[in-house]
Amino acid sequence: MGRVSGKVALVTGAASGIGRACAERLAAEGATVILTDLQDEAGAAVVEAIGAASGSARYLHQDVTDEAGWAQVIASIAAQEGRLDILVNNAGIGLGGSVIEMSLADFRRQMAVNVEGVFLGVKHAIPLMRKSGDGGSIINMSSVAGLKGAASLAGYCASKGAVRLFTKAVALECAAAQDRIRVNSVHPGIIETPIWDTIIGTGGPGANAGPQRAATLDAMANVAAALGHKGQPGDIADGVLWLASEESRYVTGAELVIDGGLTLR
Ligand code: NAD
Repeated sequence: MGRVSGKVALVTGAASGIGRACAERLAAEGATVILTDLQDEAGAAVVEAIGAASGSARYLHQDVTDEAGWAQVIASIAAQEGRLDILVNNAGIGLGGSVIEMSLADFRRQMAVNVEGVFLGVKHAIPLMRKSGDGGSIINMSSVAGLKGAASLAGYCASKGAVRLFTKAVALECAAAQDRIRVNSVHPGIIETPIWDTIIGTGGPGANAGPQRAATLDAMANVAAALGHKGQPGDIADGVLWLASEESRYVTGAELVIDGGLTLR
């Protein structure tokens, strides 16, 4: 308990999946967590769950592609919490399909959420992080798809590869400024969350997303991951918690791969 006590954390895309698990883990370890997402009801439910577990959290509606919205979220944190120590740029979408069938609009939408959203988060959060003089930790959610290619995921791979190198460049900029802000990327493998429904088609109308998704991911992970099974959002949240805490104080610009050995071969 208390590994991030007294810290203020912002987690985007926190109404579901990995973001939700990160918000819950950070709150359980003592952080005050600001969750943002497009899904307001689900976001409110996460705040309620964190409160029921004696954690501290509040929810704000945010589209990470909207720069004015970023300014509002950061202004709200400056006014209410007065500081920002941890930013988890987690919100993301996955649009699968053949590259020759993908529309330019879908490609741009994926880049807007997965890359521009991360850029805007970093741009708007760093000035508030610097104000405290205590440094900070920025964690950008990439993917194993940012480390190696995947058929039918060209747009997604492009976006996650961009997050990987963007992270290293910002890490260098912060180090040069000696602001004690560390910037790292996290690379999940096959993790059981709703994002897969738009990649493997398990969430269509009438689809029994839960069981169908679980079975499909089981089969995929059995072949792809050295450990032979899929991961859960909590597996990623544990890594994010470590990067958010002082335990990783000498780590910046790194790639934390949490993939059950998917990238080993
Ligand atoms: P998810 O769909 O469960 O959660 C993503 C959340 O982001 C949703 O709550 C969604 O509403 C929110 N979101 C989408 N667009 C948004 C926007 N424009 N503004 C604000 N919020 C927005 O999926 P997840 O698996 O938990 O994904 C979280 C992150 O992890 C993503 O960046 C994803 O690419 C990455 N990732 C996931 C896996 C996996 O296997 N699940 C693997 C590698 C990387």
